[in-house]
Amino acid sequence: MASMVVAATEKSLYIDGEWRTAPGGKIFAVNNPATGKKLADVADGGVEQARQAIEAAHAAFPSWSATTADRRAVLLTKAAALMMERLDHLAAVLTSENGKPLAESRGEVTIGAGFLQWNAEEGRRAYGEVVPSTAADRRVLTFRQPVGVVAAITPWNFPFSMVTRKLGPALAAGCTAILRPARATPLVAFEIFKILDEVGFPRGVVNLLTGIDSAGVGRELATNPLVRKLTFTGSTEVGKSLLVLAAGTIKRVSLELGGHAPSIVFDDADLEKAATAVVASRFRNAGQTCICTNRVYVQNSIAAAFQAKVAAIAGAMKVGNGADAGVQIGPLIDARAYAKVEDHVADAVGQGARILTGGRPAQPGPGLSGHFYEPTVLSGATHKMKVMYEETFGPVLPIATFETEDEAIRLANDTPFGLAAYFYARDIGRVFRVSERLDYGIIGANDPVPVGPHIPFGGYKESGLGRENGSDGIYHFLETKAVSIGI
Ligand code: NAP
Repeated sequence: MASMVVAATEKSLYIDGEWRTAPGGKIFAVNNPATGKKLADVADGGVEQARQAIEAAHAAFPSWSATTADRRAVLLTKAAALMMERLDHLAAVLTSENGKPLAESRGEVTIGAGFLQWNAEEGRRAYGEVVPSTAADRRVLTFRQPVGVVAAITPWNFPFSMVTRKLGPALAAGCTAILRPARATPLVAFEIFKILDEVGFPRGVVNLLTGIDSAGVGRELATNPLVRKLTFTGSTEVGKSLLVLAAGTIKRVSLELGGHAPSIVFDDADLEKAATAVVASRFRNAGQTCICTNRVYVQNSIAAAFQAKVAAIAGAMKVGNGADAGVQIGPLIDARAYAKVEDHVADAVGQGARILTGGRPAQPGPGLSGHFYEPTVLSGATHKMKVMYEETFGPVLPIATFETEDEAIRLANDTPFGLAAYFYARDIGRVFRVSERLDYGIIGANDPVPVGPHIPFGGYKESGLGRENGSDGIYHFLETKAVSIGI
């Protein structure tokens, strides 16, 4: 499979409608995290290529922004359809560079194609307004106009859907764009761009920058005055630094950053369903998901039964190469990610947590030299342990207990993050109360997967700025122009 994408990847810079190599043929290797083997060599573009891409996007903006929303929707719809036609191939490429199980990759491509389709439709309905005027001799209107050149920076953990979640609304709104994918996962972005090229986006409208100089290219994208909007998904630390850089030219900035999602299990929850949901939410993508459950609070009276169920379900999960049938947990992305998981488990155990299942490196089979870790469930967790306040980004589920609803809310909100939170309860009053009191942008109430093109996605507090998706998403790529007409 991966050989299907190897051949052309040295020409993976897509700038001004052309596939280009980096100057001097500079390349970098992309490896399969399950096997440690090289998948492809990819063009190593740098700051100079970023400038070229920005200039191409700037030159293309006047004509692209003048096309009709309908025309833009037609192209996006075609791209989404091609993605679904190539679902198996795209999912295989995604798994080869990211490591997640094939079933998850298929889900990601499907939802990612949906982001293009949804935004194509939203572009058609990005209405302005006729505002009732306070003066009889004036008429007041608002126009919605694209912000201009958009720079998008995306992470390795959802290398397909984070790209379409940004390019979809940008292109539908009439913006031109530059994408800089993470160095670990440029291959599926390359496949996306082959599709965008094939469906006929005009030259300069979308540009792809592969390369390893993320700080240099990031600085250029965040400071170049021709870029009018920066949209970033990644760590809170890098997001903060980009926000500072972008301040110099007052760019529009959207940030989707880190999280530390709590899951609260109340005594009126359906225990079986809650245990299954919590495990699904924690161990997806080997725990490397920004909205993953990071910590669980279970009410004392049901704690023993719940913990036993969770440990049994998690302990039975199959670890291995995501490309193999039946695998539920793939490798961690790299050695650094693996070391963090080991450190967090050691820290928790050192402070008194009990391992209910897992807690060791996994050895899933011959030929797999990647970094695998057993699905791990810990009881007796406290807020002094790193697992309870830092993103572990790995397959580790710490469980703490609580007595009252107030206590659960206080513990859940005790973090600078505010991306996603989950809870399990059947009492309808409690469902409303808790949803309202959790300081998070996304709430899954008896729902471990509160995501989709129609659901606003984004965080409170240090988890981000702005929202993607939903009916609001496209407005982050549009300016509102007020027009007052004397008659
Ligand atoms: P990261 O280090 O911030 O990397 C994210 C992206 O930024 C990558 O493309 C990376 O490129 C690039 N980058 C790194 N340093 C940069 C710099 N100085 N200037 C500009 N760009 C830079 O994050 P990560 O650890 O790889 O990704 C996981 C994080 O993303 C977690 O915190 C997770 O919660 C968050 N995340 C959030 C969401 C959300 O929607 N809220 C979704 C997914 C992930 P290179 O990798 O090539 O260096």
